[in-house]
Amino acid sequence: MEGRSDRVDQQEPGQASDIKPLIIGAGPAGLTAAYELTEHNITPIVLEMADQVGGIARTDVYKGFRFDIGGHRFFTKVDEVNRLWQTVLGDDLIKVPRMSRIYFRGKYFDYPLRPWNALRNLGIYESVRVLLSYLKWQVWPHEEEDNFEHWVVNRFGGRLYWFFFRTYTEKVWGMDPKNIRSDWAEQRIRNLSLSRAIFNALTGYNDTTSLIDKFQYPRLGPGMMWERFRDKVEERGGEVRLQSGVIGLRRDGERISHVVVEDRDGQYELTPTHVVSSMPLPWLIFQIEPKAPTSVLDAAGSLKHRDFLIVTLILDQPDPFPDNWIYVHAPDVNVGRIQNFKSWSEAMVPDLTKSSLGMEYFCNENDELWAMDDEGLIELATAELEVLGLASKEDVIDGTVIRQPKAYPVYDQEYQKNVDIIRDYLAEIENLHTVGRNGMHRYNNQDHSMLTALLAARNILGEHHDLWNVNVERSYHEEFMKKEPPSLDALRSTDSEMMKQIREAYYEGPERRTGTDRRSRSPNTWAGRRRSKDRRRGRDRRTAVTPPE
Ligand SMILES: Cc1cc2nc3c(=O)[nH]c(=O)nc-3n(C[C@H](O)[C@H](O)[C@H](O)COP(=O)(O)OP(=O)(O)OC[C@H]3O[C@@H](n4cnc5c(N)ncnc54)[C@H](O)[C@@H]3O)c2cc1C
Repeated sequence: MEGRSDRVDQQEPGQASDIKPLIIGAGPAGLTAAYELTEHNITPIVLEMADQVGGIARTDVYKGFRFDIGGHRFFTKVDEVNRLWQTVLGDDLIKVPRMSRIYFRGKYFDYPLRPWNALRNLGIYESVRVLLSYLKWQVWPHEEEDNFEHWVVNRFGGRLYWFFFRTYTEKVWGMDPKNIRSDWAEQRIRNLSLSRAIFNALTGYNDTTSLIDKFQYPRLGPGMMWERFRDKVEERGGEVRLQSGVIGLRRDGERISHVVVEDRDGQYELTPTHVVSSMPLPWLIFQIEPKAPTSVLDAAGSLKHRDFLIVTLILDQPDPFPDNWIYVHAPDVNVGRIQNFKSWSEAMVPDLTKSSLGMEYFCNENDELWAMDDEGLIELATAELEVLGLASKEDVIDGTVIRQPKAYPVYDQEYQKNVDIIRDYLAEIENLHTVGRNGMHRYNNQDHSMLTALLAARNILGEHHDLWNVNVERSYHEEFMKKEPPSLDALRSTDSEMMKQIREAYYEGPERRTGTDRRSRSPNTWAGRRRSKDRRRGRDRRTAVTPPE
């Protein structure tokens, strides 16, 4: 280690001082693992390459206006996670009434669906066509349901798919829904059909009503939760090192023996007993020395991500609309969703006579949108806001842009095969635990990201959980498959270029964020078969539809 002597093995000894874990990433997963370890008097080091904690669930601040990287609701069916949130944030975890709508064909549809509103907006003629199409697909469904389009058409009919699901899905993923695996729909849209949606809407029945009517949210945005987690970890002797990126891992037989870190003062090495990684799976694989077999490197290189940017517009008016957020299915504008942060929590704005809107754009790094300069993006977002009739451009007085690479792990037709290859390889390394969203290339919300981390921490403490099973089974918590402990018993001299590339690829530092003052400018039988198949697979069709975040 050059010029540094702070090594994991020189940490203050805790009760279990022989366990010296190192955690890569101070997002929800990394901080949860750290928290859980400190509960057991183990004091980990958390390395975070950004200058703040929270990962994708951080809260950014611009001139006192706070905003999420996409709105982050706190909801979960995992009691343990919920209890953790309550314990850590207490009264600062507020309950927010939910209001959201979908903009489609020039109309605003209540969401979740309300039958009369939907009927009024669609009109009798179109509603009948939707129903007839649904019936048709119930009788003659797609036999294979391995892609998103087939999966949705079989449950909602072709017409509804075409109008309602297709354009939004294309916006989110930037690809033909036929190329997206149905796994994603199963995970996100989960077990709803048109008949069930109508039944739920008519009867008010829903097994997740509380999640739909209201949600939990930290008073100062999601970052507040993760700042508290950090504080707790540090109070108990753990360490969270910011602007400290991991740039190399040395594998020594069946263990990771060294981790190379780069911070502002240069590079240094740590020798942990365990490594918990929430960094994107491909980076992890590429950083391990000696290099993984070619098949594993190829699999890692084939995993894709979808990127995301949010244009926050500050409005000189207090209440442009009542919704927390609006999904924009209309193909004639680029914006995919609009957040109204003040209706999440009034504390998100410094001045109650103003409001701030987050215009969310799904994109690919270096595509036209991504490459557009901030001023151009603010202009585009302002114009689209006006087209949607939500505010006039004169209302927009300021704005800022945040780009978030690797926001979404892509579930293309190849991803599962590639993840399996990587997973088999990682199983050989007994002290390395991959957790979280990008850390496992899994479309996980905070709760499941946290759950993988909780279980990784417990594995370090001697339990044996299969982390890859989280968010696969519906009853992911109670019915955890336990597996036998692995029978198997880990520096690369690297240049700082690597860290630079990683930082640029994943994080946009605050120095690249710019604000632009806008005041000066204007600018069946089959169904039966499917149900029994579902029962065999333990699926439940009664859950609320959840469009992509
Ligand atoms: C637009 C959008 C909306 C969302 N909405 C919701 C929602 O409403 N509710 C919800 O629960 N979830 C939501 N999510 C999902 C949520 O953001 C993720 O589940 C969660 O952030 C994943 O946590 P994580 O710790 O696994 O990963 P991340 O949040 O990605 O954190 C990983 C951390 O690791 C750090 N890191 C990476 N590489 C290195 C390295 N080499 N060295 C050191 N540090 C490194 C990163 O800087 C980052 O801080 C949303 C996601 C998006 C994109």
